[in-house]
Parts: sequence; C-alpha cells; structure tokens
Amino acid sequence: MALLGGHVSATHIASLSCTNSSMYFKLNALPMLKMWLPVVPVSMAILGKNKVLPLLKTEKTSWRHRLLKCIARLIPRYERCTCNECEVISGIFGNAFWHQNVSPTMHSWLNMQSSTRLPMSTFPHLRKICKAGFIVDSNGNNSYLIHPERMEVSTLYISGGRNILVTPETSFLANKYMKLHQPGLRHERVVVEGFGHSDLLIGEESHKKVFPHILSHIRLAEQGENVVMSSGKKCNEEALAWADDPYSEYRGFGSLFSPSIIILLMLLWLPVLISVFI
Ligand SMILES: [Zn+2]
Repeated sequence: MALLGGHVSATHIASLSCTNSSMYFKLNALPMLKMWLPVVPVSMAILGKNKVLPLLKTEKTSWRHRLLKCIARLIPRYERCTCNECEVISGIFGNAFWHQNVSPTMHSWLNMQSSTRLPMSTFPHLRKICKAGFIVDSNGNNSYLIHPERMEVSTLYISGGRNILVTPETSFLANKYMKLHQPGLRHERVVVEGFGHSDLLIGEESHKKVFPHILSHIRLAEQGENVVMSSGKKCNEEALAWADDPYSEYRGFGSLFSPSIIILLMLLWLPVLISVFI
C-alpha cells in the first residue's frame, strides 16, 4: 500500500519479498464468512470509544472489553488453544498460524510479550479490503492497483500451502499483476507446503524452508540479477495466461462452509446484534 499509494518510492527499494497477503486478499472460507457477517461493526460498537483491546488475562479491563473477549472466545476457528490470550485474538482475527509449526517459546512470547494489545480501529478498513479481495482505501475505492507504474521493483511472493487465513491465490494474483505490469523485472512466487500464514516467518522450520527463498531473492538483487534480460515478452505471456493456480485448493466461497458453522455463527451473533442496536 505504501508503494502503490505513492508514499514510498520504488527507487528506495532493491527488491520486495511479501508473505501471503500484499495487494490481494483472498481469504479462506471461515475468515471470509466472518467478514461478510457484521462481526466487525458489532465489535466496534461493543468497544465504544476505546478501540484498543487489552489481551492479557491479568489486566483490568472495562465491561465492554470483557464482553468482546468473551464473545471472541466463542467464535469458531480452525484450531483451539489452551492459552486464553491466543483464544481471544484467534476469535477476532482468525488463526494466524498452525500451532504445530510454532515453538512453545515463540507462542508464549507472541501472546505474553509481543501482542498484548490489539488496536482495532483499522478493522473496518481491513474488512473493506477483505470483501473487495484487493487493497482499497478507507472509503472502499480502488486507488492503489490503478498505479502499477509505482511498482518498479523486483518481487518475491511467498504463500503458505496449508491454508489458514488467506489462500495461495493471493500470491498467485500478485505475481501475475507484477509480471503483467513490470515485465522487465524478475518476479518469483513460492508456495511452501505445510505452512499457513504468519508461521511462514515465525515457524520453527522457517529458517530451513522459507528464509532461503528470501535470501536467494535478496542475493540476486544485490548481484544485479533482478532484471529479466530476455525482455518482458515471456513475463507478459505468463501473466496473461488464464491457467489456474497449480497450488490452489480453494473451492469457492460456498463449498467450504458446513451448514452447522453458518447456523452457529448466525445464532451466536443474533443476541449480540439485538442487545447493541436495539
Ligand atoms: Zn495458541
């Protein structure tokens, strides 16, 4: 968004490595359902003026924060956890990583030291982006992707192959966009099997399975290998090809919902909606 919005010039960047979402946001079925339901507006109404949610169980909080945390723990998600703080953030944001990929030390540091407060004022904007499927401004306007000329930079897009929050389609589309609009530069895409979202960077095996791709990309940029010498024709052809993403397991919006999850979510939010708005 910084680059496409014109806030940062590509001339200051040697190469760009992005994990999962960057310019496109293609959510899994469950997070997408949460975005289409009024979970975010209701959460904001419950929060009131103070939009920063304290996550630590030991911290004294207002009744509004306690109510939201209580509801968050009930929201369905892919993985449950014994950690109270993790349960709250997963309910609001969705599971951001597969637990088996993250060490207990990292898990404890994340929940007890790193992310002890959740600023939620950006969530309405994030909801617009997720519903659009690509970055939009806070009014929902497509004011970023219309400026591909600002992305004159070599890119590497990395997705996790085991979907948990966004699908690999996210990096598939971003890679296509870059090959189409900046065909003279090197653009790579990698899907790392077994990883989900943030575990790509914080996983116990990340240094073996993810970081080598990033280091290789940086090394090529340092060596001046970020320009495609054979002209951009091949890149353009690849970008325009209508082939499906070979890594895609995304089966569409409706097919991944079990009716029980939909009914549970609807029932869960009905009394909250009534109590907040009536
Ligand atoms: Zn956890």
